[in-house]
Amino acid sequence: MSDSEGVASAVLAVDLGGTTMKGAVVDAAGRTVHEEAWPTPTGGELVIRVLGDLLVALRARGERLGLRIVAGSVVSPGTIDDATGMIGYASNLGWRDVPLASLMAERVGVPVVIGHDVRAAGLAEQRLGAASGVEDFVQVSIGTGVAAALFDSGTVALGATRSAGELGHIPVIPDGELCTCGQRGCLEVYMSGAGLARRYAARGGDVLQAERIVARLGSDPIADAVWADAVHALALGLTTVTLLLDPALVVLGGGLSRAGDSLLAPLRVALDDQLAWRSAPRIAVSTLGSDAGRIGASVLAFRSVGRDDVVSGWQREGVLAG
Ligand SMILES: [Zn+2]
Repeated sequence: MSDSEGVASAVLAVDLGGTTMKGAVVDAAGRTVHEEAWPTPTGGELVIRVLGDLLVALRARGERLGLRIVAGSVVSPGTIDDATGMIGYASNLGWRDVPLASLMAERVGVPVVIGHDVRAAGLAEQRLGAASGVEDFVQVSIGTGVAAALFDSGTVALGATRSAGELGHIPVIPDGELCTCGQRGCLEVYMSGAGLARRYAARGGDVLQAERIVARLGSDPIADAVWADAVHALALGLTTVTLLLDPALVVLGGGLSRAGDSLLAPLRVALDDQLAWRSAPRIAVSTLGSDAGRIGASVLAFRSVGRDDVVSGWQREGVLAG
């Protein structure tokens, strides 16, 4: 994709998280020609300013590489209205009712589109990853918390308030432990990075990150116990999702999906056990990993300027080579 003067086009893609903002310049072949990660500051106003700085820096870098930047995209957790570019609520970024798309477009001087991080990851998995060729699937991100993107006949569900997919806050244990959201027994109280760390320490274990707790499975009874509860909670949540949506596939992403067979094997058994009369959907781990958000963001950016044709030619190898 190049303009009348033969200058190649590219977009800016930012995967905005509570601790890190990962930015990239992605060319029309889907290749990441530059990337950099900045720490996410604390405080809503400051996040807006630093995010703008990152986009401006990425644009300058892209132009120094001889590329014409045609659009930008920011994918974020929270309640995101993709159509208007408004962020309704993002608790770990300190945002409520932020017109992020227009603020960023003004800062960087190109159109900027906003997307939901897990919906963007699902879009990437559907195009180039674990959900390739699958129209009905659920993308589940298990990180500090849990969120999902629900794809039905190839279209992602948004909901009336753009907050569909809050799988982490489905109450799965009646009168269970208190969640930070105010409800009791939410899925992510048990199965999430924060939940596992909290429950492991509460039972007398060390203060450890969830990945370290997973590494102790099989040799540490406390780790085994909190993990069993976590898998059970996730299976209950996925039972609800399966019965409501009838997905063909569940794709697991986020940090805890790297637990691999320690997660997949017991989860498949538990989901089969819960679903008495119907078969369980397939369960697979994301094949794009932490690249999924960036790839999804770059798809959204090209699409926002009417260049879906560019994206349809992308190949998995080229996109991941970056
Ligand atoms: Zn909750």
